[in-house]
Amino acid sequence: MIDFTVPDEWAAHAARIREFVAEQVVPFESDPRLTRHGPTDELRAELVGLARDAGLLTFQAPRRFGGREPSHREQAVLFEAAGWSTLGPVALNCAAPDEGNMFLLAKIADDEQAERFLVPVINGERRSVFAMTEPDGAGSDPAQLATTADFDGTDYVINGRKWLITGANGARTWIIMARVPPNPHGPDGPTLFLCEGDTDGIELTRVMNTMDRNYVEGHGVVTFTGLRLPTSAVLGEVGQAFRYAQLRLAPARLTHCMRWLGAASRAQSIAVEHARTRTAFGKPIGEHQGVGFLLADNEIALQTCRLAIWWACWMLDTGARGRHESSMVKAYVSEELFKVADRCVQVLGGIGISDETPIAMIFSDMRAFRLYDGPTEVHKYAIARQVLRRP
Ligand SMILES: Cc1cc2nc3c(=O)[nH]c(=O)nc-3n(C[C@H](O)[C@H](O)[C@H](O)COP(=O)(O)OP(=O)(O)OC[C@H]3O[C@@H](n4cnc5c(N)ncnc54)[C@H](O)[C@@H]3O)c2cc1C
Repeated sequence: MIDFTVPDEWAAHAARIREFVAEQVVPFESDPRLTRHGPTDELRAELVGLARDAGLLTFQAPRRFGGREPSHREQAVLFEAAGWSTLGPVALNCAAPDEGNMFLLAKIADDEQAERFLVPVINGERRSVFAMTEPDGAGSDPAQLATTADFDGTDYVINGRKWLITGANGARTWIIMARVPPNPHGPDGPTLFLCEGDTDGIELTRVMNTMDRNYVEGHGVVTFTGLRLPTSAVLGEVGQAFRYAQLRLAPARLTHCMRWLGAASRAQSIAVEHARTRTAFGKPIGEHQGVGFLLADNEIALQTCRLAIWWACWMLDTGARGRHESSMVKAYVSEELFKVADRCVQVLGGIGISDETPIAMIFSDMRAFRLYDGPTEVHKYAIARQVLRRP
């Protein structure tokens, strides 16, 4: 049986995180350094400094790197608290893509790579990127990976183009996915490489204008031209990129769900307060059944999403890979929480689309959640294939 009791210790830590976010982070939501390309590095550094002072920075890191290494269920409680502001995970250093990248590097980087590329990310001193998606290749289907890493017996030479690369502007730890073509010197196949962001051969063409603004420095278009990396830059083994990406997949999908659950809960709390105090046709709008139903639907969605996340976390905590379960939960939660945000806009009336409250920002930031870490249709495609294969 799944036990839904939240131990006192997790609850106390979540309360500290929530208080920190509400008191110290929320005021920055109107900071001009929160731009249409996300928080700037300068804003991030200030927020990270506050979390460091509060003793809350990178709480999810493995113990050997100074974190509390929470179980997946504990993460569900803590990340939801962090998500109360879209800037909360940035401050606490548990935002994408760094959080997933730290998870992956802690699993497969060797000691030297971890010291150089992971530890400074854990300490909040630098950011990281995961560069997979391509305009003409990898996307929903990573097997289309077109970026190549030719091995000449000494170095790998990478050529290709990527886009939607979150945080590319200014990130210093780069994980790049490229295909090693067959060669006479060694193994081939999709491979992960690790390097510094200022290595010759990496060019940030531009930062894209997108409808979300919660990710630090936005999403970049990047060109690799003759990017030459030594064999020590290979992360894990040559040819194993998809296997490593799978390692990151289920937990990273769920932490997205947890953070957005926090943001959707915040939107609901604002909508509830508005429904209590704004009047129309002689009574508070919340007492009109139409509005009451919107709030009730939100409450139902928030709690079912929470339980779905906890269920998938429980699966992972039992040692299961949770690929199928996390796929179902990600598809469901991303659709449901977006509807919650939409209903909150509606309850607020005209100011719902303004920046008088954070609801409009949560709404437009959350739209992208149905696309990354697998668009809903791709998850449903995978679930349907599994269902059809059942005996
Ligand atoms: C905010 C944001 C941040 C991102 N950050 C990163 C990052 O840091 N690094 C990185 O590498 N990538 C990143 N991405 C890219 C993300 O991983 C891709 O958007 C995602 O994998 C989908 O690929 P695509 O955009 O190429 O869509 P496509 O593969 O072109 O798919 C387009 C649409 O086709 C449909 N579709 C595709 N396959 C199927 C199927 N089998 N069945 C039914 N319908 C299907 C879906 O509706 C899908 O939305 C980010 C994306 C966003 C939105």
